[in-house]
Amino acid sequence: MKEPNRPADICAHLGDDYDRYLGAIVPPVFQNTLFTRKHESHGYSYSRINNPTIEILEKKLAALEHAPAARVFASGMAAITATLSSLLHAGDHILMLRSAYYPVSAFLETEMKQYGVEVTYLERFSPEEIDAAVRPNTKVFYLESPSSNIFRVLPLREIAARAHACGAAAVMDNTWATPLYQKPLELGIDYSIHSATKYLGGHSDILGGVVLGSEEKLDALRNNQRASWGACMDPFAAWLLIRSLRTLEVRMARHSATAAKVARFLEQHPRVRKVYYPGLASDEGHALAETQMTGYSGLMSFVPDADSDAIAGMVKSLDVFEEGPSWGGFESVVNTPGLSAKEVRDFEGVPEGLVRISVGLEDADTLIADLDRALCAMPERKAPDFA
Ligand SMILES: *Cc1c(COP(=O)(O)O)cnc(C)c1O
Repeated sequence: MKEPNRPADICAHLGDDYDRYLGAIVPPVFQNTLFTRKHESHGYSYSRINNPTIEILEKKLAALEHAPAARVFASGMAAITATLSSLLHAGDHILMLRSAYYPVSAFLETEMKQYGVEVTYLERFSPEEIDAAVRPNTKVFYLESPSSNIFRVLPLREIAARAHACGAAAVMDNTWATPLYQKPLELGIDYSIHSATKYLGGHSDILGGVVLGSEEKLDALRNNQRASWGACMDPFAAWLLIRSLRTLEVRMARHSATAAKVARFLEQHPRVRKVYYPGLASDEGHALAETQMTGYSGLMSFVPDADSDAIAGMVKSLDVFEEGPSWGGFESVVNTPGLSAKEVRDFEGVPEGLVRISVGLEDADTLIADLDRALCAMPERKAPDFA
């Protein structure tokens, strides 16, 4: 196919180069570290710097998110920490979304603090919050929308414009939406980052990360942070990710359709107090999401109407949903951020009892029946509740 530019065609065919690869219907994996210069130079020398399999993957990801360039990393955290360290230096300041993926805050509180970088946490990046927090040395606004666990939707166009007015870069974690459902660079964001371990990989068998942005910014990331730290992706992981991307569009359509059914089921369930899913019309972020997103993925959370021990028992009694922290794979997973220690919950803004589910590719009716059985079996609250 000559120049695939629709998402399904990019997923299926971008990077096919039959003339170059002997007609192989699947481009081969260049599982080699060294490219010899003795005969002819192809611009490759060593796989820590670059590799043809890595480049096919980067082209596909950039095209999917309408980004000028993409660079892949060994994991999502490698992509995030490389980007932040390229932008923050001793004496700088960062505005950080409190409900962003927690290990990023941990990185700021440990590594970055050690280098003299200061952090201020914001709840929503409202104009008032930004005005009160921004300083002359603020270099980064760090965003995630929808955010982790509570899926808060941020007004990205406005926040990006404010970041630029303050002379700061807008960096955003776009893992939840995937490149299919949200294109942050088109909204003014400077760096869009994904953990490829989640939907991009989709099969719970590869770790990876990607940063999308301008050619100039990403060449610097590749030549400096990625090359120096060796946080590059292994060619075989890149090859598996190319395999995964072939089904990204069909997988996401299925995750999204099933998640919509599951969210509506939970919303009307008598043993559920509240559902957090921006795809639901009743969600506080839905109207805003409709102005900057084109679809909704399969990760959501809800607060069951029960005591904490009953909620813990309900989660253990699920049959299809396996318990664990990751998400975005073919398999449905449940996790309980709302049952962690109060200090941790308070820091992240997670309500008590919050249960997070990643809706996999199983049949929607199977998932709903599993949840319904477990929720209905929860013991009633012991103490009267005034919440
Ligand atoms: C998992 C995750 C990451 C980190 O990605 P890894 O590939 O595990 O390093 C970053 N952001 C979000 C929102 C995630 O869920």
